[in-house]
Amino acid sequence: MTSLHNRHINPLILANLDGDNWHYADYVKRGGYTALKRILSEGITPEQVIAELKAGSLRGRGGAGFPTGLKWSFMPRQFPGQKYLVCNTDEGEPGTFKDRDIIRYNPHSLIEGMAIGAYAMGISVGYNYIHGEIWSGYERFEEALDEARAAGALGDKIFGSEFNFQLHAFHGYGAYICGEETALLESLEGKKGQPRFKPPFPASFGLYGKPTTINNTETFAAVPFLLNMGGAAYLELGKPNNGGTKIFSISGDVEKPGNYEVPLGTPFAKLMELAGGMRGGKKIKAVIPGGSSAPVIKGDVMMDTDLDYDSIAKAGSMLGSGAVIVMDETRCMVKSLLRLSYFYFEESCGQCTPCREGTGWLYRLVHRIETGHGRPEDMDLLDTVAGNIMGRTICALGDAAAMPVRGFLKNYREEFEYHIEHKHCLVPAYV
Ligand code: SF4
Repeated sequence: MTSLHNRHINPLILANLDGDNWHYADYVKRGGYTALKRILSEGITPEQVIAELKAGSLRGRGGAGFPTGLKWSFMPRQFPGQKYLVCNTDEGEPGTFKDRDIIRYNPHSLIEGMAIGAYAMGISVGYNYIHGEIWSGYERFEEALDEARAAGALGDKIFGSEFNFQLHAFHGYGAYICGEETALLESLEGKKGQPRFKPPFPASFGLYGKPTTINNTETFAAVPFLLNMGGAAYLELGKPNNGGTKIFSISGDVEKPGNYEVPLGTPFAKLMELAGGMRGGKKIKAVIPGGSSAPVIKGDVMMDTDLDYDSIAKAGSMLGSGAVIVMDETRCMVKSLLRLSYFYFEESCGQCTPCREGTGWLYRLVHRIETGHGRPEDMDLLDTVAGNIMGRTICALGDAAAMPVRGFLKNYREEFEYHIEHKHCLVPAYV
């Protein structure tokens, strides 16, 4: 089992876990279900819960960083029919591997967070959509659901109150696009997982056409901790507008890849220190700070950047899902982009022409350059194709495919030009 200790600073979700203490009784010993019990027994109102989330500045941990309290306030609480709560555990972005650890090692924090969300938005049914390739996590979550039901933390009359909430796990199909919220809803309905046109947004037309709120696993799992410590203290942990802690999945050329929970605003250099530094003492060359769709940043720039939504945006990228991919001086940037372009080409659902055709063009162009058949005009062509995809597609996958291209061209143009001129790589290891 991966060691979960000594990897964090002020951890909340990943604190005091050893891999086997994920059960209901263990979670309760760690103070679990206190927030939900308090809300139900003390008559804390949904408005008060949402106000606390806003005070804590909890932002969505799945990628967009949207304020959670605000999102919850969009749910029409007095809507007379069925409403749904959905958790997005469809973790399929290259470099991201945090949510699977949450459902494996601390599933009850997610269950409690979802139950609190259901209470705050007046919802009685929820689903956790789990990525198709993490079967063991799905099984663990099912076990945790059984425990919660047996303990009265889920189902009818939760902890003896009048609040009812039924929560189910759903095993997804392993397609990257099902992590897009409307494709996820289609898939959950048993249809082909393809994104819907927006608007209407899920808050008004979601699962089975009913109002639905969707949040990421880590977002829900953070809620009990925020409420236990209070919004002000949670905000204090991070930086203004960036409350609390965040799990960063660090991979690539570091000594100790893995999940690290640190306060938002922690310097990237500190995260590198926790991760044991560069593997083999090599020099840092490039970092993709927020999952494969985030633009790449030069290593030295990243070393001076803090890990929060606003600082990373200022440095020209996005915090995204917190998947940090570190590349050392021996990595070929053309080859790296080739891998990413192939991924998006493969994962495009094919619904809209700019994405379906454009991702293929991007892949073929980068492939041509990488294999020594590139032409000087391919540089501009790459940029033009990327520009013709961006903002012209139904969902964000198109932008996700185009942004890395622009990031790599902006920061490592000379490597692409060298490939074209010399028909081989600039980096000695790949010559
Ligand atoms: Fe499908 Fe790509 Fe269009 Fe998204 S952008 S709907 S993945 S074709």
